[in-house]
Amino acid sequence: MPAEGSPDRSEPAYVQPDVRVRGAREHNLKDVDLTVPRDATVIFTGVSGSGKSSLAFGTLYAESQRRYLESVAPYARRLIDQAGTPDVDSITGMPPAVALQQQRGGRSTRSSVGSITTLSSLVRMLYSRTGDYPADQPMLYAEDFSPNTVQGACPQCHGIGRVFEVPERKMVPDPSLTIRERAIASWPTAWHGHQLRDVLVALGYDVDVPWKDLPKKDRNWILYTEETPFVPVHSRLSLAEARAAIKAGEEPTYQGTYVGARKYVLDTFANTKSASMKHRVAQFLDVATCPACHGKRLNPEPLTVTFEGLDIAEFSQLPLREMRELLEGVVDGAADGPAARKSGTGLDAAVRRDATKRRVAAGGSAHTAAPDVRRTPNQSAEKQAAAARLAAELIDRLRPIIDLGLGYLSLGRTTPTLSGGELQRLRLATQLTSELFGVVYVLDEPSAGLHPQDVTALLGILDGLKRRGNSLFVVEHSVEVMRHADWLVDIGPGAGEHGGRILYSGPTAGLAQVEESVTRGYLFGASGLPAHTPRDPSGWLQLTGVTRNNLRDLSVSIPMGVFTIVTGVSGSGKSSLVSQVLPALLSERLGSTAPVDDSPEDNEALLADSPDRLEGDLEGDLTGVRRVVSIDQKPIGRTPRSNVATYTGLFDHVRKRFAQTPEAKARGYQAGRFSFNVKGGRCPTCEGEGSVMVELLFLPSVYTECPDCHGTRYKDSTLQITWREKNIAEILAMSVEEAHPFFDGEQEVQRSLSALIDVGLDYLRLGQPATELSGGEAQRVKLASELQRAQRGDTLYVLDEPTSGLHCADADRLVAHLQSLVDAGNTVVAVELDMRVASAADYLIDLGPGAGDAGGTVVASGTPQQVADAEVGASAPYLADALL
Ligand code: ADP
Ligand code: ADP
Ligand code: ZN
Ligand code: ZN
Repeated sequence: MPAEGSPDRSEPAYVQPDVRVRGAREHNLKDVDLTVPRDATVIFTGVSGSGKSSLAFGTLYAESQRRYLESVAPYARRLIDQAGTPDVDSITGMPPAVALQQQRGGRSTRSSVGSITTLSSLVRMLYSRTGDYPADQPMLYAEDFSPNTVQGACPQCHGIGRVFEVPERKMVPDPSLTIRERAIASWPTAWHGHQLRDVLVALGYDVDVPWKDLPKKDRNWILYTEETPFVPVHSRLSLAEARAAIKAGEEPTYQGTYVGARKYVLDTFANTKSASMKHRVAQFLDVATCPACHGKRLNPEPLTVTFEGLDIAEFSQLPLREMRELLEGVVDGAADGPAARKSGTGLDAAVRRDATKRRVAAGGSAHTAAPDVRRTPNQSAEKQAAAARLAAELIDRLRPIIDLGLGYLSLGRTTPTLSGGELQRLRLATQLTSELFGVVYVLDEPSAGLHPQDVTALLGILDGLKRRGNSLFVVEHSVEVMRHADWLVDIGPGAGEHGGRILYSGPTAGLAQVEESVTRGYLFGASGLPAHTPRDPSGWLQLTGVTRNNLRDLSVSIPMGVFTIVTGVSGSGKSSLVSQVLPALLSERLGSTAPVDDSPEDNEALLADSPDRLEGDLEGDLTGVRRVVSIDQKPIGRTPRSNVATYTGLFDHVRKRFAQTPEAKARGYQAGRFSFNVKGGRCPTCEGEGSVMVELLFLPSVYTECPDCHGTRYKDSTLQITWREKNIAEILAMSVEEAHPFFDGEQEVQRSLSALIDVGLDYLRLGQPATELSGGEAQRVKLASELQRAQRGDTLYVLDEPTSGLHCADADRLVAHLQSLVDAGNTVVAVELDMRVASAADYLIDLGPGAGDAGGTVVASGTPQQVADAEVGASAPYLADALL
């Protein structure tokens, strides 16, 4: 029976009606009833897959959303019905809902911290109305300062700030070869390469001398020309032979066109439909700062306008913390009167300007000296008042963002470079200034990525939203946040089929009585990881001169053969060190290729994903390490075409089994017939996606089930083939847990399934699209794909916050796995913020002391006990608690 009952609280004078749910059956929910208070913080807990999201997002939020759509757009009713309504008998008392979910899947390069928070539009107004213009420059509109408008964008990079380059060292890796010996590695292979060579001969170039001995002028033309001459060619001759042939009046073999080597790479990359061609030419590309705007993304005109001596691009690069200080100076200056402002800010502003320039230069983007703008000494009083007003508004909006530990971000940071947690907290902080009230905020683990030190600020923000008359429904795993709840809803006891019941609904303390609850043990202190005795390292790696993002010439030692955890506040540099620098330096040293990853399909994403520079040296004993495997939270694919079955490779085996059935053989169906990614057996209407997109006027588009295959992704004829009495769509619909016994005797499939079960993903469906997985789930799918391989003890694993999105019980299981990897001789290095998990490591590296420029150094390192005892750094006190 679901726990029920009216809230047991002292009755306030005016009681809001409760939110009542009756008969919820979405996904795994077992026909549950629930009553929770309004105007309160309600936390939903339970192990992964227990049904928290199905209840909070899939039922409560979805229903609220549906009603809203119906009320604003009655005509959309049919479409909403198609899109599906949550499976629930009734919900009463539910206010309008706003969901802040962690982003899943694709994000745009065009969106940034500034656009998400809408701070950029205020800043553009500030520059437009109150900036210092050069004498002969007319005033610009706010939009003229945006790289996302035609008039504002740099014409060369279209407002992206980066361009692709094709450097000679990549096109010609070995200059001692001749062109005939394929000195130009970036040329197409086979006949097209031969043709280019023959055309060069026809144009009078010698293709039989080493590349390095060709005159520079010739090398430049061959690589960089934009001309495409069309000339008669005598095939396969040397330059001398060709000259002789022309002299002798021999008939040319054919007419051929020359294309410059760079042009060939860029055109192919931009236009080819073939993934393998694209992949081949991509290796010759470098991403470089746009030479026209130096990465500032704007055309020259708006960049001549300054505020406090900074152009808008420089201003947008300031960490938000520094931006606030600068704006406070503006507000104070205005309050003290015009004269005071001028002299009062002069020195400070100059110092700050210098600091910015240093940082901009250090950040790698070439810094051009700002044009010598005369600061208008007698700036009108009106203009100053406007500046002070806009500055004050900006300060108000910056406060909650900085309080949430995000003061190290700048407005210009693009969303693809932000973690899901950072993005959600930005949205949360933005809500605080939206002045909405009477709504329910539905949140997905807002504490993700937050150091325990900053959780208090998060709780303050949540309280602020509640005080304004809102309700909060929060899916959370942090015990700290659970303790802060007015009301706790625990779902479980297990995942998938074994969950979906409401074990408890009431004030937090009451959970102590619920024996069935897995959460109880963690909240009230009975459960946890076994005490761990640190292992001794088998050797050390020394990293020196590490420079990346906020890491500046950092030196750090990383032990081998043990479990190392890197801690530090959000923005201190953990990911920069662990996910970026370490794998890159190791791959370089081991000569291995970068970890397998889906290459981004869209060129903009590729441009945005490659940050400025990465430097560092790595020394130490790497014998025994053959592979580096980086397991991050990036989506495992950006389309519904990638799913759990395809990613782990088990689907290949399944398709083979289908192709081997007598019926498939009789019909001539091969394994490819059972793929939904290629033409043949898939549904032609939705091209195997199972869903089609419906455009709603004025509203976000929705995906609805494909009307032809009803979401099965396949043609009827394909579905007629069965193996063990199930067709291919029915197999994709199975959960991992159901599939395991079903594939009895199919060792390879079962090995993949066991690995998925081991990382706590037994509740996923085999065909669950990658786009539906949370970052944490995607990371665990990757981990499972790794675990299913035979363990040879020769791998260095790199993980970034592996426990985010996990219930403590799931985190414990994961840690046990990582420990077993280390026991098998591997090395594990992970970023982690849960001090409970950190206390189970062999070695800790605490980065800090602060975020951004205030971080990036090693504050303490050693065994967890040593770091706790050192009593320096943000982590020590929390670690000491966890070690008790
Ligand atoms: P939690 O939020 O507690 O981790 P979920 O609510 O996401 O759990 O999942 C509960 C169950 O519902 C799981 O068995 C999961 O596989 C299933 N589920 C989640 N999303 C979907 C979906 N879109 N379609 C079908 N089943 C789903
Ligand atoms: P942590 O992992 O400790 O939260 P990060 O390594 O992500 O910290 O960030 C450290 C610093 O580097 C921060 O100031 C952050 O803003 C900056 N940074 C991180 N990634 C990027 C990026 N892709 N582009 C620019 N700056 C970045
Ligand atoms: Zn540009
Ligand atoms: Zn279809």
